[in-house]
Amino acid sequence: MAVTDRFDSETLVIASHNAGKIAEIRALFAGRVARLPSAADFDLADPEETGTSFAENAALKARFVAGATGAPALADDSGLAVHALRGAPGIHTARWAEQPDGRRDFAAGMQRVEAALAGQGHCDRSAHFVCALSLAWPDGRIHTVEGVVHGVLAWPPRGQRGFGYDPMFIPVGHSVTFGEMEPDAKHSISHRADAFRQMIRDCF
Ligand code: IMP
Repeated sequence: MAVTDRFDSETLVIASHNAGKIAEIRALFAGRVARLPSAADFDLADPEETGTSFAENAALKARFVAGATGAPALADDSGLAVHALRGAPGIHTARWAEQPDGRRDFAAGMQRVEAALAGQGHCDRSAHFVCALSLAWPDGRIHTVEGVVHGVLAWPPRGQRGFGYDPMFIPVGHSVTFGEMEPDAKHSISHRADAFRQMIRDCF
């Protein structure tokens, strides 16, 4: 990576409309970046996620926001990859939880993953979460990293903490699901933590 890919601006736009994600990213970069507005502060809609990988989707969101605001922008894209399902639901993880009325129901999403696995009829329950993170500059430079956490899928789901598919994911080396873990414990080993550590090491 070129030395010029170090972040040296006062403003970093968080390319997201998800309040939880925005708060998490603000907390991580507080002290490193003076201003951390989000895409919502600029009234920007989300671009269509037409990429075929987590990295492509993170990059297209970051590029879109950097281009529209004239400031560096950070975007992420994440999901669950189940090995026996050849990486599904993958970039469609959120969509697997979508109901006919457009609501997201993650209990139904987990059920769908479990049903797909049962349909495969074999016992490999290994999976990993991925988080791609892209930092794009308005002049076209971009840096993308990918964080990962490996684990196995539990059934039935366990735990009320976390979000999304957390209650069915047991990270390697642990006996509890992300849904049962203390938030700080999850945040220290998660795919998102891995990606942020790489991005901070590379660019900040
Ligand atoms: P997106 O990155 O916001 O497009 O959505 C990724 C989807 O993957 C979300 O709907 C979550 O349900 C799921 N996901 C991503 N990270 C996690 C996690 O840490 N725990 C549980 N589910 C996750």
